[in-house]
Amino acid sequence: MPLLSKRLEMLPFWRITVRRNPQTIASSATQRSLLLAGLIALALLGVAFGAVSTFRFVNQSLELASLKSDFLSSITHELKTPLTSIQMFSEMLSLGRIKNDEKRMEYYKHITSESIRLRGMIDDILDFARSEAGKVHYVLSEADFAELVQDALDIFYLSAEAKGFEIKSDLPDFGEFPPVDVDREAMVRVFVNLLSNAVKYSLENPEISVQVKRDGHLLLASVADKGVGIESKNLEKIFDKFFRAGDPLTREVSGTGLGLSLVHGIVRAHDGDIRVTSEKNVGSTFTVALPIVEDYRDKWPPDAEVPTQSEFTSSEDTSHSSALMNSEEQTSSAVDEQGG
Ligand code: ADP
Repeated sequence: MPLLSKRLEMLPFWRITVRRNPQTIASSATQRSLLLAGLIALALLGVAFGAVSTFRFVNQSLELASLKSDFLSSITHELKTPLTSIQMFSEMLSLGRIKNDEKRMEYYKHITSESIRLRGMIDDILDFARSEAGKVHYVLSEADFAELVQDALDIFYLSAEAKGFEIKSDLPDFGEFPPVDVDREAMVRVFVNLLSNAVKYSLENPEISVQVKRDGHLLLASVADKGVGIESKNLEKIFDKFFRAGDPLTREVSGTGLGLSLVHGIVRAHDGDIRVTSEKNVGSTFTVALPIVEDYRDKWPPDAEVPTQSEFTSSEDTSHSSALMNSEEQTSSAVDEQGG
């Protein structure tokens, strides 16, 4: 069929006709069908993607709803258990039935330990409620990381001792390492949580090690236990809210599944990181890494003398001393640039 056919006025017996090459028609038809097929495939892909996303979202919401309802039903029990022991031990003490001094001391320690557990749970629940409502505010100030870890150990010591734990700590002296910027109360809670987990999940092998060390611009504080350990498939999930490992060894232990998600949130809010290494039935190590306050990264203590050229220059080894000076210059200029 012609695309255009017209009689010419000037030449009455002539007609001009424009026709398309049949091959061009065929190829343009193929192109159109391909374009149409492509569009249909794209639309189907879009629908499929939408369906999968919706399914995932619904599934996640259902999972979260089920975790929340598990949490609510267990929380009442979790709160009642330490309260019942506290009530029982204090009643026995107040009735004067315990004549033996050692036994009395043991009961006091139990009361302290159960109160710390109860306080920890209530703190976790309140923190969780605050973070869900977006009402968490951290007030940062410079602090000595090791001193802060020691504060958590002091809070926890009696409770761990009552359960027969040996705590080995390898902490630097106050002021030995440069400070970190932290909300002190929140960061102490991080370590109380990690210590509380170390105790809960290693009752069979009651030994905990706590260490603070420096790694470049970071300070690392670790809490290691020799307990039940965590399966590798669960290592990523333990920081999710409400997550509790399903194995019987963990299920026997009381908990809310909130502690590590709060710990993770607090550490991340301080520009830090938390790492875990664990092996089933061998133990777990949780390490919190926090950045050293920028001004002190390359100069600590702050009143330390910046080495002068004469201290580095020795007649025997001038090449070594100039290399040191160069590295010194590079470091301070990098700090200046960062400091603006
Ligand atoms: P909770 O201890 O209340 O269950 P957490 O959020 O503190 O909640 O911990 C989440 C889960 O991570 C725990 O249920 C447990 O399965 C696992 N977990 C945490 N710390 C340890 C540890 N030190 N050893 C073994 N498992 C641990």
